Amino acid sequence: TLFEEAGLPNVVIECCKNFDKPSPIQSNSWPFLLDGRDLIGIAATGSGKTLAFGVPAIMHVLNKRKSKTSKNPLCLALSPTRELAQQIADVFFDAGKPSGVKSVCVYGGTFKGPQISSLKSGVDIVIGTPGRLRDLIEMGVCDLKEVSYVVLDEADRMLDMGFEPEVRSILSQTSSVRQMVMFSATWPFAVHQLAQEFMDPFPVKV
Ligand code: AMP
Repeated sequence: TLFEEAGLPNVVIECCKNFDKPSPIQSNSWPFLLDGRDLIGIAATGSGKTLAFGVPAIMHVLNKRKSKTSKNPLCLALSPTRELAQQIADVFFDAGKPSGVKSVCVYGGTFKGPQISSLKSGVDIVIGTPGRLRDLIEMGVCDLKEVSYVVLDEADRMLDMGFEPEVRSILSQTSSVRQMVMFSATWPFAVHQLAQEFMDPFPVKV
């Protein structure tokens, strides 16, 4: 399969120009995610999962931003660590550049000021760690009510690190009409339970 066969606009294909063809996780995820379905992927780092959820995130913004009236974000990606959030953000910054999709990355252990300024100037996608994101929500500088595409990356690690209360609180503030994608390296009960509560997936064999 070639990127062109995924039916993506050129501005989106542009972000994959460094690669010959979609990785298996990408070619298996895109049809479902671009169709608006929820998706759970059991995949490790190195599989190309960032673009697996990233390309549909960019498409989601391109489809929705025409009707957007506020500066609030439309997509959210949660990750357990600052390093991973930054890696996702780097991919999203590049992928969003040709189409002018704006992302901000928020994480703890650093000043809030620049993160607040970006949020106030208006962003399409927020990438972040659960603790800092919840702080910013409580400060009233990040409103998730228009978020209708949510990614939980490394969900198992996020719960292992004790972020479950933050994750639940954050998810409950996103739009009730939302698409959600979860990636996890393992499939423990806590992750299963979270998925069952917040997602609407159905099994498909690929
Ligand atoms: P990830 O699993 O998203 O962290 O990606 C792991 C690595 O695979 C990164 O260095 C990506 O740049 C690279 N990558 C992502 N998509 C592809 C692809 N379709 N073909 C080859 N490499 C890729």
